Amino acid sequence: MEYSDKGYPGNTCAKERGESSGIRYSRDEQVQMRAERICRSIQPERARGSYAGRTAAGDGEARGSYAGRTAVGDGEARRQRREQEERHERRQKRQCMVLAVLALVLVGALALRAFLARNVAATSGQASPLGELLLVGDLKLARQDPLILVNKEHALPEDYKVELHWLKNGRNAVSELMYESLHRMLTDGSTDGRQFVVASGYRDTEKQQRLLDEDIAADMEQEGMTWQEAYDKETRETMPPGHSEHETGLAVDLVSLDYQVLDEAQEQTRENQWLRENCSKYGFILRYPRGKEEITGVDYESWHFRYVGEEAAQEITERGITLEEYLGEQ
Ligand SMILES: [Zn+2]
Repeated sequence: MEYSDKGYPGNTCAKERGESSGIRYSRDEQVQMRAERICRSIQPERARGSYAGRTAAGDGEARGSYAGRTAVGDGEARRQRREQEERHERRQKRQCMVLAVLALVLVGALALRAFLARNVAATSGQASPLGELLLVGDLKLARQDPLILVNKEHALPEDYKVELHWLKNGRNAVSELMYESLHRMLTDGSTDGRQFVVASGYRDTEKQQRLLDEDIAADMEQEGMTWQEAYDKETRETMPPGHSEHETGLAVDLVSLDYQVLDEAQEQTRENQWLRENCSKYGFILRYPRGKEEITGVDYESWHFRYVGEEAAQEITERGITLEEYLGEQ
């Protein structure tokens, strides 16, 4: 490197060259200044370099380690967060699964219930023929239908059998099916000073035939009627054999002890009034009401009570209908 008085040509700094300031340095001064300049230019470089190095290294290390630590810390935190999120997701999935399973179970249960209800309904719909099959032979006694319809159009089945319960008077019997209800009804009515007489209960076909024959003969003899006229008149009250409710054992003619005549005046007795008011509670209906003669085919009979069971009796009485209407047979 060559020195010149003109200063250091490589140095573009006018101030350091001393040109612009107008100061002139001696050669020794210039050498010293250059040396110092070099030193300054080197020292800071080294310092900066070492500092930068340190900084780079330190910072790098620091950053690295910090970043590392942070990265490690962050990584761990992230992993933990991820794990937490995954656990949360798994928990949510489990809850969803549980809810789905519960919903399925609920839907299944409802479907099963509906299916069973339909099945039971179908079964009970088919129960009628099955029940009829079960009523063959002696089983009929145990399964006697309290809603059996017997009138002029509906004859009693030829093989009809009834288990009878004889009353204490020794003259009358009724179906075992209704005996307890009849006994309870008459006992309750008696506690209030009413006194009842069972005028008629079960009748077999022969007796029914005999009763009808006697009535027809009396009409022909006393009224001069033909057999047909007498038959038509009598069957307004006394059914032909096989068509009387008395043959079922489920019907009774009840009268007052003080007035035992089967006519219009019977309904004036306290006994009859009590019976008409209370019989449905015991499963009985007034079988041939006034105003329903066209439906029943029988004149009004205030004394003839028919056992049909409590449920049917209450509905028939409340609605003011007949057994024919109740059974949809009219
Ligand atoms: Zn009767």
